[in-house]
Amino acid sequence: MSPSLSSPRIAIIGAGIIGLSCAWELANRGAQVTLFDSNFHPGRGASWAAAGMLAPAYEAAAEEGAHPRLFDLCLEGGDLWTGFAREIAEATGRDVLHIGGPSLAVALTTQDLAAMQGLATALNAQGIPFDVLSPDETLAHEHQVSPGNRGALLLHTDGQVDNRLLVDTLIRALEKHPNAVFVNGEAPLVCSGNALTVAGFDEVIIAAGWQTPSVTAGDTPLGDIVPTLKTLQPVGGHMLALLRQPESPEMTLRCGSLYIVPKAGRVVVGATVEPGVTGHEIDWDTIHGLEVAAHELCPVLKEAPIIEAWRGIRPGTPDHAPMIGALGETGAFVAAGHYRNGILLAPVTAQIMADLILDRKTSELAAAFSPARFAAATA
Ligand SMILES: Cc1cc2nc3c(=O)[nH]c(=O)nc-3n(C[C@H](O)[C@H](O)[C@H](O)COP(=O)(O)OP(=O)(O)OC[C@H]3O[C@@H](n4cnc5c(N)ncnc54)[C@H](O)[C@@H]3O)c2cc1C
Repeated sequence: MSPSLSSPRIAIIGAGIIGLSCAWELANRGAQVTLFDSNFHPGRGASWAAAGMLAPAYEAAAEEGAHPRLFDLCLEGGDLWTGFAREIAEATGRDVLHIGGPSLAVALTTQDLAAMQGLATALNAQGIPFDVLSPDETLAHEHQVSPGNRGALLLHTDGQVDNRLLVDTLIRALEKHPNAVFVNGEAPLVCSGNALTVAGFDEVIIAAGWQTPSVTAGDTPLGDIVPTLKTLQPVGGHMLALLRQPESPEMTLRCGSLYIVPKAGRVVVGATVEPGVTGHEIDWDTIHGLEVAAHELCPVLKEAPIIEAWRGIRPGTPDHAPMIGALGETGAFVAAGHYRNGILLAPVTAQIMADLILDRKTSELAAAFSPARFAAATA
């Protein structure tokens, strides 16, 4: 076996949580990885902007048009998280503040109650354990929820991680890893005939988040070479962080599209869903709207000043699920389009890519997320 086959040289384009996790898994399994990121500060895309919730159960109430196996992938992703966080901590000595759960899905209005019922039905259908809480029981779990709450679901499987700490820790760990190299800049990707290659590498993974279709091979955007990639669409999201105070809530709280996620020193509040938006500029009326909604759910947060506001960009796909696998007939691979679950799905994506590239192996579940599912729509 040639050295490149026993430890293949792999170029990864994009060092967000997806590129980083793939690099981590592949390097640990003996591959030689080089991560290319065009941003001077890698990892500061969606992975930095996220709330870090690891919430497979909340995903069970799938929106119309969602991939039918997305929930299964989210559950598998959630199952891998404890081991993933432990492995990173053992290798780096840094705790990425992973909390396995639980979270609360709270109802404040009749509409929220109906949504809660829908979620409970979906969870029952999937056999996922949860508890239905009365308003008083909800307050017993989290004192800072509004006394006017109308009950909640206690979601044992839904936790969180400090996504910023995670990204920074993986970057540091990979910088010291004997099998990994970082390059600040675009990869010299070329397209010859159908084939996408980077000179000196055996394999290429494109993991550039919402910008994946605009990564270029020569002067040509990948979206023009592989039309499937054009189904990836940016979805903006406003968020804010409040100063965490001793009386701030301690549990992750969901209520419709609003969430409150306590972190060390701050309480993250999100988020809007803005299809097609690629700008990072902040609309303060929108931030104020989120802040008011957070005050309704947790009145004590009125005392907490805003310490940060931002707008991130999720990599969306038509079925809200990622593309993981071979990129058409190009010989390259893609791992992108994780929409609002990229942090949750990072370890499972990394495993799927490593199995595929190193062992040429794909599970039945992984195969369902091949980008080929969009090929007919873009032919
Ligand atoms: C507001 C908000 C809240 C969210 N909350 C959660 C949550 O609670 N839980 C969860 O699981 N998910 C959440 N998400 C989703 C999650 O953040 C994303 O799915 C995930 O971060 C996508 O990771 P990525 O690595 O694909 O993309 P990114 O993190 O965007 O990384 C892509 C990288 O590619 C680089 N790049 C771009 N173009 C090139 C190029 N040409 N060459 C080289 N490099 C390039 C960029 O610089 C960047 O570093 C949230 C997202 C947002 C915006």
